[in-house]
Amino acid sequence: MKRRTRKQWYQYHLDNAQRQEKNRVESAMGGELRAVKGAQQLAWKAYMEAMQHEPLKSRMQSLVGIDSIYRKDVLSPLENDAKVADRALSDALIRYGALLKEAEKNGAENYHLAREARKLESEARAQRVTQRRYEQRLRYLEKSPALRSAARPLKEHLIQSQSKDGQFIECYYCQKLIAAGESHLEHKRPISRGGDNRRGNLALSCAPCNLRKGRKTQEEFLRDLGKGKT
Ligand SMILES: [Zn+2]
Repeated sequence: MKRRTRKQWYQYHLDNAQRQEKNRVESAMGGELRAVKGAQQLAWKAYMEAMQHEPLKSRMQSLVGIDSIYRKDVLSPLENDAKVADRALSDALIRYGALLKEAEKNGAENYHLAREARKLESEARAQRVTQRRYEQRLRYLEKSPALRSAARPLKEHLIQSQSKDGQFIECYYCQKLIAAGESHLEHKRPISRGGDNRRGNLALSCAPCNLRKGRKTQEEFLRDLGKGKT
């Protein structure tokens, strides 16, 4: 089978959507159309048969009056019926044509809406994949034994998740507002005392707090801060 180009696929799906709508019209109007068509054929057949009828061909037609009475009472009404049936058929065909045109429009609209929805869905999926990869990378960095190389992305992550504008963050210990770029990446429990690089053990602090804290754990430091204040 020949491979389809993007444009051909587009046309293929568009055609499908339109055909579906046209089929809907077809099944809704098909019965009515067949009935009207049948009635029109019957009306003309009846008229044709009447034209062949006995009185016109028989010897009686030579008798004055018979011919014209038959014309007036039988042929004319039948001809009239046939013309009415003609109009009914052409009206139905016009309506059918309009509905088909509308179906074409609706089909295209359906297709474009569905296409848009699929696009949004695949974008959302791509976003979820990106988010998952980002999480994987952070988890990898958390376990990385070399904090030096892991520190920057982890710090960036903390800034992004803690700062409202990406510019300023609150010191984890003294709550002072500081420039995000000047914050220090802090281990609540220092590595030297069994702490790790997990996000739960990381915080952003101002430089003074970071220096003052030294090798203390978060609990020890906060206790000391409390003592210092009172
Ligand atoms: Zn501080």
